[in-house]
Amino acid sequence: MSAPSPLLARWLARASEARPLVLDTRGATSWHDAGDAADRVASALLEGRSSLEGERVALLVSPGATFVACFFGVLRAGGCVVVLSPLHPPPEAAYFCADAGVRTVVASPELRERVTFLAPERRILDAEALLVAPRGRVAAEPRAGDPALQLYTSGTTGKPKGAVITHANLGTQQELVGEAWDWHEGDVLLHTLPLHHLHGLGIAFLTALGAGAATRFLGGFEARATWEAMARATVFMGVPTVHAKLFAAFDEADAATRARWTAAARTLRLVTSGSAALPVTLGERWRALTGAYPLERFGMTEIGVGMSNPLAPEKRRPGSVGLPLRTVRTRVVGDDGSDGDTGELWIAGPSVFAAYHERPEATRDAFVTLDGERWFKTGDTVAREPDGYVKILGRTSVDILKSGGYKLSALEIEETLREHAAVAEVAVVGLPDATWGERVVACVVARAGREGECGTESLRAFAKERLASYKVPKQVFLMQELPRNAVGKVIKPELVKKLG
Ligand code: AMP
Repeated sequence: MSAPSPLLARWLARASEARPLVLDTRGATSWHDAGDAADRVASALLEGRSSLEGERVALLVSPGATFVACFFGVLRAGGCVVVLSPLHPPPEAAYFCADAGVRTVVASPELRERVTFLAPERRILDAEALLVAPRGRVAAEPRAGDPALQLYTSGTTGKPKGAVITHANLGTQQELVGEAWDWHEGDVLLHTLPLHHLHGLGIAFLTALGAGAATRFLGGFEARATWEAMARATVFMGVPTVHAKLFAAFDEADAATRARWTAAARTLRLVTSGSAALPVTLGERWRALTGAYPLERFGMTEIGVGMSNPLAPEKRRPGSVGLPLRTVRTRVVGDDGSDGDTGELWIAGPSVFAAYHERPEATRDAFVTLDGERWFKTGDTVAREPDGYVKILGRTSVDILKSGGYKLSALEIEETLREHAAVAEVAVVGLPDATWGERVVACVVARAGREGECGTESLRAFAKERLASYKVPKQVFLMQELPRNAVGKVIKPELVKKLG
């Protein structure tokens, strides 16, 4: 039997503290009150049982104290959290719940309507009611190796896969990021990122919590509100799209507002960027404003943060993701399978996730075992500089796009568009974009005489009903034919060149 959960050990160690853990629209919630609410959630979920034994429980809960209590309530009860988002249209939410075997969905009252269609096979519980449910004995004792979180991530084959992330994985992240970025009790994290992605949930919120810091949830990203709230925080984490939108709002603001926002930004001790490459021009804007280039780091749903630039601003290198964190082992593997300085990045160590849920083949394909060590193949091509700093050169597959910090599968989007009766052929590619990193676009060949049904607006409307908004192509290009190679495979780089 493995050790107790390090994540819950940190949670429980502060359960009697009156200091704030969460700041949201309702004000401050202390560690004590959040702990009490989580145990009430756990009691209600357990209904007298001793443990949920890893059962998947879905949360569609607004960011803030209620989310935190529900998240830890599921874990305290021995369950594993599947996070749903209001960005998911019904077919996606249904797919995640079916794939994960979810029988219970916990929803905020304001979001409940979005999941009522999942009943009656599943029970839908009211998050606010669970927070004040009778408190019973919570005796489940999840172990370090037990699943804590199942996050859906896109790959180059099929539908998104559920990455099973253990208590030990999340505990390791808390430790590694905590020490690398010097998280401490006095910190306040300004939180605007989605919670169904590891960046917002594990890397931002849970590492702040691991150090005893408070988190100020804004309930989502809005540029002006984010600038204003910086004055009441010490750490801000963004994806490049967020940084681009912040500066777009800054450029539109009047002089007095800019001065106020500049002063607010200067109170932050740390600004980070991750989930996609930060354009150096954007990083330099932060440097001009605050004196420090943002700390850029590399992470993945499957491994958490792998590499990070140093905390000391003068050691941060623009265009680089820095050095591996303490327990992260890296290899750079060339096409011929030998180690070198340019090639695919492989990662091993205690931060690496357990498996893809009920996908033994996909799990097997994602790893290489060498001398008893399990190496995760990231699918990223990197270059390692002589002093060890790592630069991300791109994805090894053209079918993986990064837009707004989200990892997207071109194949999944193509599959969806192919369901449209007027679409004969489709190829989805990412075009370089200053705000989104990559802008998702679809190249479509229409069925004879049905070109009129394949315009951007009509295909977007079709896709929006089936895919989260960030996956929906921003533009549709109608073509006579798609460029294909001798074996009929679409030559995507050619499409990108043509459209770019
Ligand atoms: P996700 O699992 O959605 O977090 O996506 C992980 C992928 O995001 C990685 O495999 C990289 O392709 C990309 N990524 C994350 N951080 C960075 C970064 N700082 N620079 C470039 N790409 C990044």
